[in-house]
Amino acid sequence: MLDLDGTMYDKSGLAARMVRRLFWCLPLVMAERWARRNMHYTQYASEEEYNDAFFHFMARGHWWSAGIAETWYNTVYMPAMARLIHRHHKPRKEVMELVEEAKSRGIKLAIYSDYGYVEEKLEALGIDPEPFELLIAAPQLGALKPSEPCARRLLEMLEADPETTLFVGDRDEKDGASARAVGAKFLKV
Ligand SMILES: [Mg+2]
Repeated sequence: MLDLDGTMYDKSGLAARMVRRLFWCLPLVMAERWARRNMHYTQYASEEEYNDAFFHFMARGHWWSAGIAETWYNTVYMPAMARLIHRHHKPRKEVMELVEEAKSRGIKLAIYSDYGYVEEKLEALGIDPEPFELLIAAPQLGALKPSEPCARRLLEMLEADPETTLFVGDRDEKDGASARAVGAKFLKV
């Protein structure tokens, strides 16, 4: 179970580049960060409910509506992130070796991200999605990491046993905590 941002690639400098690139819409960038912080530890029943809450948080106290925030997120913010990843970032060699090794041994692989746009980001990095059984972002399961219900649902989808599952990630409080929530092992990048 591999995290994407910071794990499949070193994301150093990405946040600063995002701010520079999106300086013209900085209030929306700040609202996105604030909304994400507000989503922590809340479990929603579905992706729709999660998105509804997220974009309402983004719009709270601002002139834009939740609908405008959603359009901006999907047509400006995430595509800008994918373009910057494509231009400035490369897959981590040691993680790609791990993927190759797991694939050759027939071990199931999945990407478990905290953001959406998983396929587009893999494409931006030039990573073939073929070895991965599942590409998923936590919000698709109703919450952010380290949600226990999301991690559990993920294991169900993969028909995986927690004792033989390894979470790989760059953040102990997100990826490590997800692993611990279901009794799986964790490897920090
Ligand atoms: Mg990460």
